[in-house]
This record gives sequence, structure tokens and C-alpha cells, in this order.
Amino acid sequence: MLVEIRAAGLCGSDIHMLYRKPASERRAEIMRGLTIDPDIICSHEPAGVVADVGPGVTHLSVGDRVAVAHLSGCGVCLSCRRGWDIDCEDKQTYGFDRDGAMADFMLAEARDCAVLPDAVSFTEGAFYACGAGTGYAALKRGGFTAGETVAVVGLGQVGLCAAYFAAAGGARVIAIDPVEERREFALQHGATVALDPTQGDVAEMVSAVNGGRGAHLAIDATGVSAGRRAALDAARTWGRVVMVGFGDDETSIDVGAQIIQKQLTVVGAWVYSTPDLQEMVDDVAARGLSVAPLILHEYTPDQAEQAWKDVDSGSLGKSMVVWPEPATDTPSHSVA
Ligand SMILES: [Zn+2]
Ligand SMILES: [Zn+2]
Repeated sequence: MLVEIRAAGLCGSDIHMLYRKPASERRAEIMRGLTIDPDIICSHEPAGVVADVGPGVTHLSVGDRVAVAHLSGCGVCLSCRRGWDIDCEDKQTYGFDRDGAMADFMLAEARDCAVLPDAVSFTEGAFYACGAGTGYAALKRGGFTAGETVAVVGLGQVGLCAAYFAAAGGARVIAIDPVEERREFALQHGATVALDPTQGDVAEMVSAVNGGRGAHLAIDATGVSAGRRAALDAARTWGRVVMVGFGDDETSIDVGAQIIQKQLTVVGAWVYSTPDLQEMVDDVAARGLSVAPLILHEYTPDQAEQAWKDVDSGSLGKSMVVWPEPATDTPSHSVA
């Protein structure tokens, strides 16, 4: 299936996996079959309009607005049949080892696409394809319910979105990050309190702003050892902890003190399932939620190089390369 790209997201993972610590230098047990080909077209956050469909595609039509789930599995193994393409042993990733979204058109499998409701823009759809979708799914994986206190450690794209959705779902959100402007941004977008983890003991600081208890649910979105330990410490006795930050730190923890004696439930969450992507965009459209205020920077395709430089320097919020809307809603690609 051919997608005429309208928005392509820029993600820290691209820079980390390609340059900072190439995939080839990471531990194989962490990568679980994720590979990187530096020669492919980047961006694993695609959204656009279906420009052409191949034979046998019946659930999508030319002109449909879609976001593309970035993990594309074999389609037939048990993991893929459950929608968890990320667990497939024979998967590809758009923008990592298969051409991604930073081009006018992208070839995608129809089964990887989620149809965007009218209320969800292309830039939001692209954001759901990675960071926003991963943050949303982490919350779901943690069994979040309204009225809980949720501590989010690490306010990058994933953590920021988890905080936003937790707040939108009725949580009291404690946002934890050493960077002041990230804390301020989280406070503007749903967080109730923000803490700097370098200023003291995380368990004590969370307890001090939360009536003497830890959080019902704590989420690590940093992927580094200090963040993971902070999430365990931020959770109350009988709390739940979701580890969603992808990183290859080998983290040592005190299982007795940090997990057993606190009766914690600790779960791992790796991105989202392909059906999750459709459910998320339908859910946010139905509830009138929007991650658009978190998308601070939009660039034209000609400005892509500058966009990557800005993301590499740590720009706040989400960045997107956006293609101009054509004069009509029909794709410019003519189907032969
Ligand atoms: Zn598979
Ligand atoms: Zn990403």
C-alpha cells in the first residue's frame, strides 16, 4: 500500500539508535530482533493519505487518512496474530530497517495502518505512531483508573504523553524530571506537581506532596537506571510500576526492599500493539482529547535537516515535518 505522507515525526530514538549508541553496539537481548539500516529513509512516525492499494486490500481505500504502526511483523506468527508485531522474531521497523516516513510517499503494509478519525490530525496521528502511542499504552498496561495518583519519571515525549493522558483520565499526576523546562511544560499540560529527582530522596519527595503515601501507579519513561529506581521508589505499598523507557542499562535494584516488601506489581511495556493504535485514535477522538498542544515545532520537508539538529539539541515538546495540504482531498499520486 502506498501512503502519501503528510506528517513525519522526529523521535529521540532515531538519533540514539543511529548515532549516539548504534543498534549494532547494543545488547542483543535488549534489541530482540530490532535492527537498524542507516541507509533507509528515516522516521518511524508516519501519517498520510492512502494513495494506492495493492491486490487483496479490502479494508482501506484510496483517500483514507491513516497513521502507520511502525513495527511490521511477519503477520502470521502467534505474536503478530495477537497484534504484537513488536514481539515478532521476523519484524521490520519503518524508519529503522525499512523505508520510513521522511519522504513524499511510503510503502506500508495495509495491516499496519490505523484509520484516523476526522478529529485526529495528521501530526497527531504521526505522534501516536510512536511517542504518544507508547505513553498511552504504558498507562493502559499499568491498569490505570481514574482517581489515582500517577508518578511519571522522565518527561520526554513518552512520559509527557503518559502524564497528559493520566491527567485527562482523572489522575493526580506527579511529574518527575531533572530538567526544569520539562517540568514546567508538564505542569502546563496536566501535571499537578513536578519534582526534581536530584533534589532529594524520591520516595520522600513523592510522599511529601501526596498525603504521606507513594503513587498508585509509577511509570519510568527514562530507560536509565536512575529513572527506573526512582519509579520503584515513587510507588506506594501495593502500587504498580510500568517500565516503558527503552534503554539498554543493566539496572541493579534491591528486589527485597524495592519490590517484595512493597508488594509491588512491576510490568514491562514495549511500545504498543497494532490494534492499540486504532483503539487509541478512536478513543481520543471520542473523548475530545488532543496531543496537538504538545507538538511545538513544525518544519517543512526542506527544513528537515534543521529539524533533526533542533531535536538533537533537546528542543522541548514534539517536532514534526509536515507536508503542505494539497488543494483537494484526493491524493496527488495518480493510480494507474
Ligand atoms: Zn510475526
Ligand atoms: Zn520513536
